[in-house]
Amino acid sequence: MLKNFLSLFIQSPCPLCRRRTGDWLCSYCLNQLLSYKHRRPHQLWSGALPRFIWGYYDGRLKQIIAALKFEKRPELGLELGLLLGEAWLQAPLEKLRPLVVPIPLHPDKLKERGFNQAELLAQGFCRLTRYPLSPQGLLRVKNTAALFALDPQARRETLKDSLTLGPSLAKTNQPILLLDDILTTGATAEEAQKVLKRNGKQVLGIAALASSLTLRP
Ligand SMILES: [Zn+2]
Repeated sequence: MLKNFLSLFIQSPCPLCRRRTGDWLCSYCLNQLLSYKHRRPHQLWSGALPRFIWGYYDGRLKQIIAALKFEKRPELGLELGLLLGEAWLQAPLEKLRPLVVPIPLHPDKLKERGFNQAELLAQGFCRLTRYPLSPQGLLRVKNTAALFALDPQARRETLKDSLTLGPSLAKTNQPILLLDDILTTGATAEEAQKVLKRNGKQVLGIAALASSLTLRP
């Protein structure tokens, strides 16, 4: 009775549909979100840069990433990172206990947004997997705006020398798992891999919450 009474007070609007809920998403939106999850998130885990993709970038998944970034709801990043971590642990992959390095934001962007969404996802991911996290493993030294408008070649040109190794990675020999919110073409992840490899680091691949590179689930 008391618990029910108290739950009236701790309920808050669902970030996607505004129904009141005691959870981070209402059950309706959570089910819709889960319908974008891939059954085989490791389907692109091979090749030069293996990619682990939680879900298809559309619908509720697209909306929740927008809420996280543009409505500035950092708590959603942690929850989504837990979902990504859960899928990772369940996938039939060889797990080498990597060091997790989020794709960084440029300091100007970071100042504007107040947080790096990839780092929040990585925090949730690492909380579940218990992998070590190096939030400053890579630094973004060039502000690259509006990549979506560019063709692949122009993207690569723009991204060139945009990332550099952070001091926290200087001494580690641990294999690295990159982590990002959205994998669009993978050009940023490839640039990150290039920088890490140039510095003698082993890159296992990238884990991303969403991408439209794969087919709809
Ligand atoms: Zn909802």
